[in-house]
Amino acid sequence: MFNLILFGPPGSGKGTQSEKLIAKYGFKHLSTGDLLRSEISNQTKLGMEAKSFMDKGQLVPDAVVIGMVDAAISANKGVNGFLFDGFPRTKAQAIALDNLLDSHATAINVVLALDVPEEELIARMINRAKTSGRTDDADESVQKKRISVYKNETLAVAEHYSAFDKVVTLNGLGEIDTIFTSICAEIDARA
Ligand code: ADP
Repeated sequence: MFNLILFGPPGSGKGTQSEKLIAKYGFKHLSTGDLLRSEISNQTKLGMEAKSFMDKGQLVPDAVVIGMVDAAISANKGVNGFLFDGFPRTKAQAIALDNLLDSHATAINVVLALDVPEEELIARMINRAKTSGRTDDADESVQKKRISVYKNETLAVAEHYSAFDKVVTLNGLGEIDTIFTSICAEIDARA
């Protein structure tokens, strides 16, 4: 199994690159943002609780997202690898993920971090809001909040995996296909 974390701030292109990676390598995509939005559209209790955090740009509580990921990993035994997108987002989530994978006799192979300047992130979120219908993209104060949550809580995930020498930082600015090529090179060097 080859398990990859696509890491980066909101708007760094994780979703776009994930789609291309899944098509090429057949990874199972595990996006906690997508899982939460599906809970919201199905109007589940979990979805309704999560929405209030998401609309403010805050993180959904660790126990909720860890439980969702646990269920998704167990439901997908036999895949050739997971692509984690938007998860883990806190150090506690990273530790929980390592333990979950360990219990399935596997581990994270690499964390690919997309590096994009803050001005560009905001510009992309404003642009995405026009087509995504995502309520958390439309408001500038929510965008700023998500970036500050990333700095204060999520950067610790990169530190966690750096200690195991698993993080590779890639330039996330430029053509989508150029970025994709650089991501593929890192995967191919390890797979
Ligand atoms: P983006 O990468 O643009 O921030 P996501 O779809 O990954 O978008 O996340 C949207 C929102 O969903 C986040 O702002 C947060 O409220 C919630 N969310 C997604 N993943 C997690 C997670 N792993 N832990 C906590 N909250 C999450």
